[in-house]
Parts: sequence; C-alpha cells; structure tokens
Amino acid sequence: MKECAICNRPNSEEHHRIYRSECKPLVKCKKNLVYLCAEHHRGSQGVHGKHGDKLNRKLKIEFQEWLQGEFKKDKYTMEEIQKKLDVSSNAVRSLSKLMRLDKGAYLREDIIRVCMGGKMYDTSN
Ligand SMILES: [Zn+2]
Ligand SMILES: [Zn+2]
Repeated sequence: MKECAICNRPNSEEHHRIYRSECKPLVKCKKNLVYLCAEHHRGSQGVHGKHGDKLNRKLKIEFQEWLQGEFKKDKYTMEEIQKKLDVSSNAVRSLSKLMRLDKGAYLREDIIRVCMGGKMYDTSN
C-alpha cells in the first residue's frame, strides 16, 4: 500500500503532487496523493530536494493527465466535480470560487487549471 511510487520501498511517506501551498482544497484528494520513500521525498534527488525538479514535474503531469482523462465534457456541476475528485463539499466550494460559472456549471479548462494550482504543463514534449 504505502510503497514508494518510484522504487517500491515500503513504509513510504505521503506526498501531495500538487502541494498544499499550490492547491489547499486538494489535500484530501486521493488522486493527488502519492507515496514516496524518504529519499525520493526529501533526499537531494527527491521531489522536494535540490535536484527534484524532474520528479516533481513527472508527478504533477501524471495528475494533470488523470484530470484530463476524467473531465472530458465541456462543463461540470459542483456535484459532479465533487464526485470525481472525491473531496468534501467545502473543498469543492473553495475550488469553485476560482472557476468561472457558466449557466450553473463550471468549464473543463477552469477545473483542470485550478486543480493544477493554476499551472498547466505542456505534455507534448
Ligand atoms: Zn523511493
Ligand atoms: Zn511532499
């Protein structure tokens, strides 16, 4: 269960793909969580480490790709967003404040961008 996503070491630590500081409403979203061993989490090659940029980007892109696969329609209601992200109604309400409301629904591109903490990654290269 708590095996490192990179090297499979057991008893690994919980990491938020999109940091709490980047998107607080997603702290409880399971899809935003990944387990990393101490080295891959806090070591110099770890995601928070000096040389962790590549790993950080990889873990975020995985989440972005999950969002893109999950949100395929043009618009979603708050209830639908909550169901897909599996977060509390308070969390989805906080997220929704950052999205444009269009005839009672939220736009796909806004949902994905907001869940990514406002930063989209170019996955074409
Ligand atoms: Zn590891
Ligand atoms: Zn972390």
